[in-house]
Amino acid sequence: MTLHNKYPTAHYRALDAAHHVHPFSDTRALNAEGSRIIVKGEGVWLTDSDGNRILDGMAGLWCVNIGHGRAEVAEAVQRQMLELSYYNTFFKTSHPPAIELAALLAEIAPARFNRVFFTGSGSEANDTVLRLVRTYWATLGKPDKQVIVARRNAYHGSTVAGASLGGMGPMHKQGGLPIPGIHHIAQPYWFGEGGEMSRDEFGLWAARELEKAIDAIGEDKIAAFIAEPIQGAGGVVIPPDTYWPEVARICREREILFVSDEVICGFGRLGRWFGSEYFGTEPDLMPIAKGLSSGYLPIGGVMISDKVAAVLEETGDFNHGFTYSAHPVCCAAAIANLEIIRRDKLVERVADDIGPYLRERWLKLGDHPLVGEARMTGLVGALELVPAKPSRRRFEGDGKVGLKCRDFSFRNGLVMRAVGDTMIISPPLVISHEEADELVRLAARTLDMTHDALKAEGLMG
Ligand SMILES: *Cc1c(COP(=O)(O)O)cnc(C)c1O
Repeated sequence: MTLHNKYPTAHYRALDAAHHVHPFSDTRALNAEGSRIIVKGEGVWLTDSDGNRILDGMAGLWCVNIGHGRAEVAEAVQRQMLELSYYNTFFKTSHPPAIELAALLAEIAPARFNRVFFTGSGSEANDTVLRLVRTYWATLGKPDKQVIVARRNAYHGSTVAGASLGGMGPMHKQGGLPIPGIHHIAQPYWFGEGGEMSRDEFGLWAARELEKAIDAIGEDKIAAFIAEPIQGAGGVVIPPDTYWPEVARICREREILFVSDEVICGFGRLGRWFGSEYFGTEPDLMPIAKGLSSGYLPIGGVMISDKVAAVLEETGDFNHGFTYSAHPVCCAAAIANLEIIRRDKLVERVADDIGPYLRERWLKLGDHPLVGEARMTGLVGALELVPAKPSRRRFEGDGKVGLKCRDFSFRNGLVMRAVGDTMIISPPLVISHEEADELVRLAARTLDMTHDALKAEGLMG
């Protein structure tokens, strides 16, 4: 057993509890329990400070598409650090990494996307989206088109605009969100909210909620509709087949912009470069982050279609930007990452090889007595935990079963995340067949252990 840490686990835990406030965490509960200290990453594997190996079923936070520890990215970053570690792009200046990355993205993206605005994260990308879509309509002489339609249980980041566009109840409860001018409609989550409707009926119904919102609020007031191709943080909500074609029809017929939040689905996750390509929608803007750099350094952006870019040219100054917009070292990391994705054909691999391979095995977990539905598209999947199949009724207790399952999973050496009682995975795109087998084996064992524990507590059936 090789230890990669300088200090023993207890020392790190004590300092972490004393000084570090974690995102999306109950500070007191976490400090009492102590966090797990991750010290090393290689491929799909993590190592903790006690020397345990853990299969990273979530690719960090949906981002490490090329796997952990790729020396080529580190070398590109080091070269760029030594060459030009920082310069801004505000005042009539630019630099090679920003230019090369922008051109590379234009090459990768659908033909009508030829421009990108860089940010430091996905949240900043969606802040940019909010200002961009309103500025677009104001420039066209329609300043009343301000309202952005989004969906309940969507995730668009954690800044004020990102959290407001998102539809997460617990986030809205803190800090006075959402801000005005954002309207949330239903999500296409059939398993949880489909009621008596068939999947396809429900998909159409959920899509037409957009049309109803446009009619109710007034097309002259609506700036844009924003949505993730597949909702990630909301629990890997894969819409019914009828959903996206109907949304695409509505967006074509109505005078609104369509924003496809590609922060998770972009860069190969669904077996295409962008999730909107997988579903055949035609967005006007695409926020990106996460897989853009595989998380090696923080960078995001907004891909801007020619239609929006042409109007933006009429705007004059767009009074918006970040110190770290197009940070040269982050751009260098993103370029190295995209080159690996292209060279190793990771997008094609998800479509034709590892995607179908893992999906076939993952869907079999749907036979487990605890699993009401197993679903997967590309390399993103979910398991719905239920007390009594085939009913879609949920457990009492608001996600306690999911947390129990997540803890078993971690102890078994697999990172699965829990969203309520939905277990989700989103592994690195480089995961091998053997590692995919191992992932499914560990998930099955985790389900067995969770099932046994629930039975012992009398919670099954
Ligand atoms: C993670 C995420 C964001 C926010 O990105 P950050 O880099 O965490 O700010 C936005 N949209 C989606 C769909 C995401 O999954």
